Amino acid sequence: MSNQKLKIAIQKSGRLYEDSVKLLNECGIELRNVKDRLRTESDTFPIEVFFLRDDDIPQYVEDQVADIGIVGENVLYEKNKEAIIVEQLGFGKCRLSLAIPKNENFEGPTSLQGKKIATSYPFLLQQYLDKHKVKAEIHEISGSVEIAPGIGLADAVADLVSSGSTLFMNGLKEVETILKSQSVLIRNVNLSDEKLALIEKLLFRIRAVKKAKRYKYILLNAPNDKLEKIISLLPGMKSPTVLPLAETGWSSVHSAINEDEFWEKIEALKAAGAEGILVVPIEKMIL
Ligand code: ATP
Ligand code: ZN
Repeated sequence: MSNQKLKIAIQKSGRLYEDSVKLLNECGIELRNVKDRLRTESDTFPIEVFFLRDDDIPQYVEDQVADIGIVGENVLYEKNKEAIIVEQLGFGKCRLSLAIPKNENFEGPTSLQGKKIATSYPFLLQQYLDKHKVKAEIHEISGSVEIAPGIGLADAVADLVSSGSTLFMNGLKEVETILKSQSVLIRNVNLSDEKLALIEKLLFRIRAVKKAKRYKYILLNAPNDKLEKIISLLPGMKSPTVLPLAETGWSSVHSAINEDEFWEKIEALKAAGAEGILVVPIEKMIL
């Protein structure tokens, strides 16, 4: 009973593959050489990894072929399977958007009335149309949705977008966002306490890694008469560490700062008299 393994499903290849494996590695889970690329294990964590098409991951988790999985919210909601979102992972960010030919007008969802819309997300698109009481014809295609209007297959598309350049290159413009998405860790709804404990262990590590990415470690030198002002700019985890330098009248100050306010903080610190500012990445952060 105590040698149970947590079964995780991740994308076999594609946009989520590298970030998924990297996240596991950063959590101290080294994967054994992936021979057949169908499944592998780890010597450093009781886990078994299945490599699948992302579209199949929600079903596998619902059926508990896998206990947990990493998948985009877009796929999870489109497949409409039963699973619990455990954590948002912050990668694979994109949006499901409606796009129409550049030179056409859009005056809200009703502009789609009676139109033909190509998409790989028929369920989410139908939900959107129903919500706005619009009747349109959904044409489901599995890839290269963005070329559909150009070849006369559809009047509009509902497709995944990150920068928008693919739409632009195909003469389309984005007019509405149907769903904002990122990758999430999902789990089956009926797991044993033992499996849940393993998920907690994994989650603790994921959160430490995620938190560390949002912070930088900063070291700087300050004349003692300016310390008070400089410390007030640096809250740190508890409060900054202050160490005397060999040169009298100077101190070294260490702290962690959030990347959201990073540049403003650096400017304020310089203006307050800080010198020799060093900024280094943090690998894990446990509070
Ligand atoms: P699979 O062979 O596993 O079915 P796929 O071709 O469906 O792969 P990918 O293109 O690898 O899928 O995309 C996987 C996921 O990456 C998407 O479902 C989405 O959550 C995310 N993603 C992030 N940015 C984009 C983007 N610009 N276009 C498409 N997907 C994106
Ligand atoms: Zn897919």
